[in-house]
Amino acid sequence: MYTLEKRKMIYIISRKPTWFHTHCLTPGKKLPLWYDPTWVIGECDLCAMSIRNQDWWNNCSYNQSQRKFYDIIEKELKVWI
Ligand SMILES: [Zn+2]
Repeated sequence: MYTLEKRKMIYIISRKPTWFHTHCLTPGKKLPLWYDPTWVIGECDLCAMSIRNQDWWNNCSYNQSQRKFYDIIEKELKVWI
């Protein structure tokens, strides 16, 4: 489990968002097989999904999206420079 503080730290250090991956598909042309939900940093190694695609799968509004958290951090970081 990643707390918001931990996710923020990882993002500041690596610029990679940590997000909850609920729609991981097997790659290639095999039969689609959903993996168990898991935490991903950056892009998923298995299906190459990004946080934006995950938000799309979740069919959520921007305010409920996982991406929003990192957009806010991004704004904070710009203020410091
Ligand atoms: Zn995946």
